[in-house]
Amino acid sequence: MNEIEIILEKTTLSKDDLVTLISLEGENRNILLKKAQLVAGKTIGNNVYYRGLVEFSNICSKDCFYCGIRKSNKKTERYNLSDSEILDAAKFAYKSQYGSLVLQSGEQTNPAFIGRIGKLLKSIKSLSNGQLGITISLGEQTEDTYQYWYNCGAHRYLLRIETSNKTLYNTIHPFDDNHSFEKRISCLQSLQKVGYQTGTGVMIGLPFQTYEDLADDLIFMKNFDVDMVGMGPYIEHEHTPLYKYKNKLWPLSRRLEVAINMIATLRILMPNINIVASTALQAIDPLGREKALKNGANIIMPNITPTNHRKDYLLYENKPCIDESANDCTNCINIRIEMAGKKVVLGQWGDSKHYFSRNKNL
Ligand code: SF4
Repeated sequence: MNEIEIILEKTTLSKDDLVTLISLEGENRNILLKKAQLVAGKTIGNNVYYRGLVEFSNICSKDCFYCGIRKSNKKTERYNLSDSEILDAAKFAYKSQYGSLVLQSGEQTNPAFIGRIGKLLKSIKSLSNGQLGITISLGEQTEDTYQYWYNCGAHRYLLRIETSNKTLYNTIHPFDDNHSFEKRISCLQSLQKVGYQTGTGVMIGLPFQTYEDLADDLIFMKNFDVDMVGMGPYIEHEHTPLYKYKNKLWPLSRRLEVAINMIATLRILMPNINIVASTALQAIDPLGREKALKNGANIIMPNITPTNHRKDYLLYENKPCIDESANDCTNCINIRIEMAGKKVVLGQWGDSKHYFSRNKNL
């Protein structure tokens, strides 16, 4: 056995082991990917679940240095879908048997926004006879707000930590109370306490980020006992402060490779969680998401935002699928999933098995 095979035989992976795995290249990398395929086959099987993604507003109160829709980017045209546009997208997801929906937007914490989301959640539950599962990704909120939205029908929440290295976190965000690392952690704790299937994620290939940081990110996910992860390569956006470090970045092809290594390693580390094949992977490689599905991911989020607004939700550049209609998007994704040797499961929520194993009383 070579060094990689020996690591992959271990029952507990050390930080050094993780660093070795996520930095692999060439032939040894294939050993990691094969192991992840084997683990996925035994634990989550061949199934892939849909989450119809509705990016309903790009209005945001925050100023994250890496994000194309940060509030200080005056070059972005702001939009806010009407309730009927959002509900139409939900009807489409329901009729297309997606099983689940994701409501995502920039972060707002005002009472009108909180109340609006509550009403929308109830309406989506009602129009789908309770059959659409709902994930929300609406940033940092109070525990009361998380509880209110949970009571209204959301049962999964995605809040990415972006990086678990506090120093790096403070480098890629303004250093103020509105962008606090501690607050992000405490929000994740609140989400678990309320009872959400809790998801997080990180960007891979940030300026100043090391393989050690990425290994710590995986350890963070494991220690936090998350149920779902959505992570992908960092892709620079010209109209953001972080763009000035573009010369410090790994080539895009390496960011993609390491992102797939991260997904494969995480599948081995946390065999029964849900892992998203993120759209950012496809922005680098047309087959990026298929590679993720093949090597550990099991969730895909077809974009069902009305096409006239997709071009305005550019968190990063070269985002794919901004022109296709929701129908075209679905057809294209179906084919892609089959190409990855996987099977789309329609009409089911596809909840995280991990959530139920850590909540054995449910
Ligand atoms: S990353 Fe999220 S919170 Fe930060 S500016 Fe972008 S949309 Fe807003």
